[in-house]
Amino acid sequence: MIDINLHTHTRRCGHASGEDREYVENAVKAGFREIGFSDHAPFMTADGKESGYRVSHADTPGYFESLRALREEFKDRIAIHIGFEMEYYEENFEDMLSYARSQGAEYLILGQHFLGNEHVYREGTSAASDSVERLDKYLELVLKGLKTGLFSYVAHPDIIRFTGDDKAYEERIRSFIREVVKLGYPLELNRLGFFEKRHYPRDLFWKIAGEEGATAVIGLDAHTPEVYLDRETVKKIEAYLEEHHVKRILPQMIRI
Ligand SMILES: [Zn+2]
Ligand SMILES: [Zn+2]
Repeated sequence: MIDINLHTHTRRCGHASGEDREYVENAVKAGFREIGFSDHAPFMTADGKESGYRVSHADTPGYFESLRALREEFKDRIAIHIGFEMEYYEENFEDMLSYARSQGAEYLILGQHFLGNEHVYREGTSAASDSVERLDKYLELVLKGLKTGLFSYVAHPDIIRFTGDDKAYEERIRSFIREVVKLGYPLELNRLGFFEKRHYPRDLFWKIAGEEGATAVIGLDAHTPEVYLDRETVKKIEAYLEEHHVKRILPQMIRI
């Protein structure tokens, strides 16, 4: 089976496990023709703060070194891309981007885990909230991020955990998805959220996605190498997408 996954982490983010090599070996075993590593992008504040869920600046050269060596070694069997999963923080994006580029990152996926610099905006987008302002802010940031043209796609677009009125959610998500479709981007159906039965994928989000003719890519969001071997969950995700009338496409890397 031919498949592509651009959403893979490594142990350097502190909450993933396994060796880089094991991810690649399993991807080859499972028949992937192309994979991308997109660990959480390094980010340091002016006063030197770094969050524990990211690749640190100190570990970044090793990330690229290890993955480049694997890319070379496995080049006849699989294509390997090296990038980051990155938030779009209005104030910090230029710095994060130029650091990522300086290290040789080839692509980015947009994972909006916070509404801004996490040392300031401490409440993550996964935190339950009925605030319409937060929902609006999240959607606005994701759209701004996509409009830079520098993200290959938006990861877990339904990560924002809005607990308020469904009608308010539906109205906003519909116009958001329309924009995303107009911009030509797919939405990611996140395998980790699906497998762990997190608050995403959110059924209402995907119902609207189907009605609006959105396309989806499956992002494994692999935090362990074994994820690559689990074809059963991917099949269930395909059925979920079909049920919601969302067409699955393969992700395409946009070079930064
Ligand atoms: Zn993420
Ligand atoms: Zn991820």
